[in-house]
Amino acid sequence: MILIVDDTPENLISLKKVLEKHDFEVDTAASGEEALKKVLKNSYVLIILDVQMPGMDGFEVAEAISGYSKAKETAIIFLSAANTAFKFIAKGYSSGGLDYITKPVDMNILLLKVKTFYRIYEQNRKLNEMQNSLIAEIETRKEAERKKDEFISIASHELKTPLTSVKGYVQLLERSVNKGDTETVKKHLAKAQVQLEKLNVLIADLLDISKIESGKIKFNLQYFSIDHLVDNLIEVMYQSNPEFKINRIGFANCDVYGDEMRLEQVVINFLTNAIKYSPGTNEINVKVDVKDDQLYLSVKDFGIGLSPEQQQNVFEKFYRVEETSQRFPGLGIGLYISSEIITRHGGRVGLKSEYGNGSEFYFMIPTNLKIEA
Ligand code: ADP
Repeated sequence: MILIVDDTPENLISLKKVLEKHDFEVDTAASGEEALKKVLKNSYVLIILDVQMPGMDGFEVAEAISGYSKAKETAIIFLSAANTAFKFIAKGYSSGGLDYITKPVDMNILLLKVKTFYRIYEQNRKLNEMQNSLIAEIETRKEAERKKDEFISIASHELKTPLTSVKGYVQLLERSVNKGDTETVKKHLAKAQVQLEKLNVLIADLLDISKIESGKIKFNLQYFSIDHLVDNLIEVMYQSNPEFKINRIGFANCDVYGDEMRLEQVVINFLTNAIKYSPGTNEINVKVDVKDDQLYLSVKDFGIGLSPEQQQNVFEKFYRVEETSQRFPGLGIGLYISSEIITRHGGRVGLKSEYGNGSEFYFMIPTNLKIEA
């Protein structure tokens, strides 16, 4: 928008008319004081400023404006009787530009100058926009890089822990075998196997991440019984965590079309998290329901819970709650993978949680959606 400042009403009206005819948006002020008030309130690309006005003259107005951060980019064209006065203009005015036109105003020259200032303003605006989006892009990339570095260090540590245990058990096994102690050999073998399974899961998760990133995750789709899947998993989880009572609430009573192994992976992730993040508790509820061809499956624990801010981030790649990350092992990718699997089944994941009072993670998928494998 352009602001015209002139104490002569005829000048204001005629300038306004010409500029509006050329599609410029125009505002007017009849004195320096009024102009300052308007500059504080509105944003102007250009101010056309009469130099000779009673009260504050044009130069004083320009000098005052030079102090407003809001008008930093605003250009000024002075309308003065004699151009010699131009050199006296506001000290240190660092605006979008300064120019002058002598009176009587030649409208063609004024229009030319106005158009030039507008073009410069547009170019500046675009450059600023570009600069801001580049700065934002650099920040995003830096953050992603930082998260990746952090992830690599956590992943190496997580892989090393079971590997070191396996190495230890193999040494113990060697000794027990030499002694011919079959019972101890069996015990060590079982323990080594648990650690190897941990390694297996970690490596599978890492491979899944790279498959998701490259869009190469494949689904093997068929109808299967979700009720069987849930029963089996509750049984398996109970075997390795007998201290937990896993209650089953509800049945689907129908087959679901999807990738059984991938959906099993999601439920396992919810269940292992429910156990891991609930020390000192011993109960978990698994709820299954089908309504309007939508399967709803949730896993509710009574553990540490999550604050609203943490809840917003849990499905993000590499996210782990900072205050508990030392206490519980993990890579921060299980829920991200789960959410990708559910999205690819045409569904959505979510959670209800209260800090300190447990969480309920759930997913919903259509029971018979024919998705692309
Ligand atoms: P991981 O458990 O390996 O860190 P996940 O992607 O499965 O990775 O979970 C991401 C983060 O979400 C966890 O680090 C944890 O902070 C939080 N979280 C997940 N499940 C629960 C839960 N049931 N209760 C509390 N916090 C949870």
